[in-house]
Amino acid sequence: MIRIENIYKNFGDLEVLKDVSLKVKKGEVISIIGPSGSGKSTLLRCINYLEKIDLGRIEIEGKPIVDCEKGNRKYILEGDIRKICKKVGMVFQSFNLFPHKTVLENIIEAPIIVDKMKREKAIKIAEGLLKKIGLLDKRDVYPGKLSGGQKQRVAIARALAMNPKIMLFDEPTSALDPELVGEVLKVMKELVKERMTMLIVTHEMAFAKEVSDRVIFMDGGKVIEEAQPEKLFTNPDHPRIKTFLDKML
Ligand code: ADP
Ligand code: MG
Repeated sequence: MIRIENIYKNFGDLEVLKDVSLKVKKGEVISIIGPSGSGKSTLLRCINYLEKIDLGRIEIEGKPIVDCEKGNRKYILEGDIRKICKKVGMVFQSFNLFPHKTVLENIIEAPIIVDKMKREKAIKIAEGLLKKIGLLDKRDVYPGKLSGGQKQRVAIARALAMNPKIMLFDEPTSALDPELVGEVLKVMKELVKERMTMLIVTHEMAFAKEVSDRVIFMDGGKVIEEAQPEKLFTNPDHPRIKTFLDKML
């Protein structure tokens, strides 16, 4: 589903991603952990074309979205990128719901505007998703009236409304009060059960250990270790990871 080959990303003089490679197969759940500033968000943003890489190659379902050799960036048509990126849903730490739109309007916006879907069909799909996340009764409420956990569940439903083949999660529970984390993780576990392909940046170590096929540890813009959760959480090769995990407890 995703093939990332030797990507580099700089912000000015700051090297944020240094030779990162990663493959995600269909139905795989991969968690990315690591200290703040290690490049986790930037990596997700590059996959979703919210940031442009400086070097390397990213493919989604075998189609390149960016391909850069030194001094020779191959441009991919903007329209084609949009089509490919539509297959990738993203959920942010800060929810990013439209505050002046109701829950339902938040969910149907992209299907109607981007996918040119008929309003009635988009509403049907949105109501199905609201039922799935247990918030059908909040259909006509504005986000300001929701708890953080409810907002994030709506944000997940909104991403799902575009029928993505891949879901990217960037610390989806980090902004939540502890008692609200569980309801969001529960929705994510449902997606895992449905074999959604997922790439999850998280500090929820127990969750990552439970749901991931593989876990990636990033530090200083590099993938330091990639392993099955059992291995990475109990017996990592890299001492830096052990220090990080010990601090998390
Ligand atoms: P993480 O998600 O692992 O905390 P980020 O990918 O957000 O890390 O950031 C990696 C580094 O890149 C940090 O040093 C951060 O300050 C820097 N950075 C991120 N986005 C930008 C930007 N738009 N402009 C300049 N620096 C940035
Ligand atoms: Mg981040």
